[in-house]
Amino acid sequence: MAGYGRKLYRRRLPTLYSAMGTAAPDFIWETHGIHTGTIVGPIKHGIDDIDGAIERSIELGHPAVTFIIHTPRLTTFRYEAEERLGLKFIRGDSAFADYVALMKGYKRRYADRIEVHYGIELEWQGLGLGLTWSRAKIEQMLGVDFIVGSVHFSAERIPYDGSKEEAERLLRLRGSPEAYWEGYLDEVLTMLDAWGEYIHAVGHLDLPKLHVPAPEDVREPMRGSGPLARKLRTILWKLSDKGIALDVNLSGDAKGCGIYPSEGILMLTREIGVSICVGTDCHALADIGRLYSRGVAYLEGLGFSRYLSFSRGRPQVHILGRDEAPERADFESVLNTGYSLIAQLDNPSRRKVDYQAISISLGEKYGGFREALGSHVPAGEGASILLRKDGHSLLIGREAPESPDFFSGIYFKHRDRPGTLALLVSVLASEGVNIDSAYLFNKGDGFGEAYISVSGCSQERVENACEFALGTNAESFLELIPDYAGSIPSPKASSFYIHAIDDVELAMPPAAQMVHSVHEDRPGMLFVLLAALAARDVNVFDLRLTQSPGIGHALLAVRGESLAIQLALASIRPEFRHISYLSLGEERGEWAR
Ligand SMILES: [Zn+2]
Ligand SMILES: [Zn+2]
Repeated sequence: MAGYGRKLYRRRLPTLYSAMGTAAPDFIWETHGIHTGTIVGPIKHGIDDIDGAIERSIELGHPAVTFIIHTPRLTTFRYEAEERLGLKFIRGDSAFADYVALMKGYKRRYADRIEVHYGIELEWQGLGLGLTWSRAKIEQMLGVDFIVGSVHFSAERIPYDGSKEEAERLLRLRGSPEAYWEGYLDEVLTMLDAWGEYIHAVGHLDLPKLHVPAPEDVREPMRGSGPLARKLRTILWKLSDKGIALDVNLSGDAKGCGIYPSEGILMLTREIGVSICVGTDCHALADIGRLYSRGVAYLEGLGFSRYLSFSRGRPQVHILGRDEAPERADFESVLNTGYSLIAQLDNPSRRKVDYQAISISLGEKYGGFREALGSHVPAGEGASILLRKDGHSLLIGREAPESPDFFSGIYFKHRDRPGTLALLVSVLASEGVNIDSAYLFNKGDGFGEAYISVSGCSQERVENACEFALGTNAESFLELIPDYAGSIPSPKASSFYIHAIDDVELAMPPAAQMVHSVHEDRPGMLFVLLAALAARDVNVFDLRLTQSPGIGHALLAVRGESLAIQLALASIRPEFRHISYLSLGEERGEWAR
């Protein structure tokens, strides 16, 4: 197979789904999921047996499993239990340092059985040193799926979720439950201001209720008019402004204080339109998936129809509820590939993407999901999804795009290796020939076929260019017809297709690695792009190029080192209007090579 990376088989549906026919078991794409252990030390926290947790999830028929690890705390932030034992190491620090490498391994090893996601729970430890420490921790965690920001410790360095005694000590220091809660909400606000651009979700928002019951204003912020209600509302508005999701954390249910956050807070969340994500915050093998149906019922009861999870920092949306599971799983997989792609369009820094900045419309065949997604603008007849964000758009769909049945221009068959296409394009550029549109197909047998239509020159110059190409590198070209007239083959079969980007038709089966460029339509621009890629040994095996007046648009399927591709794009970016690296391969098992 010579490593052709476009083996697009759809993820096998979990056995339990198919065994149960249309009735799906409750399942949640968790964010604040299973806590991995600290391995070293007398105080056990979380699950050290990662294989066991993954096997258990597979056994339960779950399509995915999500892990989370605490960032290690500064030595001055300690639970009583740690002080009592006189631990002289930073608990969890070594497990944390190995975490990403370990999790990448699990992700790969289990790729064809279950999707493994992993993130961190970033511990708020105030401004100053706490902030710098956390910033370094974020850098250590390059490539995680998500970051949850949580306040566990007060500014007085006493935990809210430690022992009852610790909570009472803090309550005495602060004087009243109101002051206890006000201090906490202030800390959350400071955290959101400091970390807004890094965190994807805020953890267990009303955590202090574990030991100190929440005052009325905290439980019912829709009704309250006191400072606590006002602060809570500000927090929720900030989540909305900063595109941070609210962690609906089921662990409170197991601890007897009720799911975090309370119904009243969630009602306000829904009104403001803050996205939610869900997690069991689970610390034992036996608890995996145990609270799923409880969580689904809780959220459905409050009128929620969807929630988010995260994959490499990009939001993925899921529909709550039990109906039509296989069809829904299928729809979500196309939709979420769309989310991944649009999140990467024109986002070279690849920072966090605000879910709320993405709007979607659904084609007729997906009409059944419009209600749940709160999206009522139509997008054509078929099984198609149109996503829009910050002036960019992406149209994807199940139906195969039609190739033009008549095409005239240059045809060539060539060996599929880095640089061949660049060579032909360079010769065309040297003759001042402009490329209007191009189709490149990878045949999967070591050869590629290309169809190129040109303008702005005589046929003589085109033929001249073709002769130069042959003369320069005859062995790369098997066939070169300068005046081809005929049909263009259909694109390779795929479970879905990209149809258009930025409202310009660029129909192609998706690939694990792609490049999208928008550039001035003049001779040589495509050569600049291809040269930068070829120089870094990046092969282009599929390509569509088209133009709107004065502007060229190209979509390329490429194969190479992802860092090399990004460096190539960075070096030519100033000359292009937009240039984006779109990758699906790094985070989704189904795209595995
Ligand atoms: Zn926590
Ligand atoms: Zn947690």
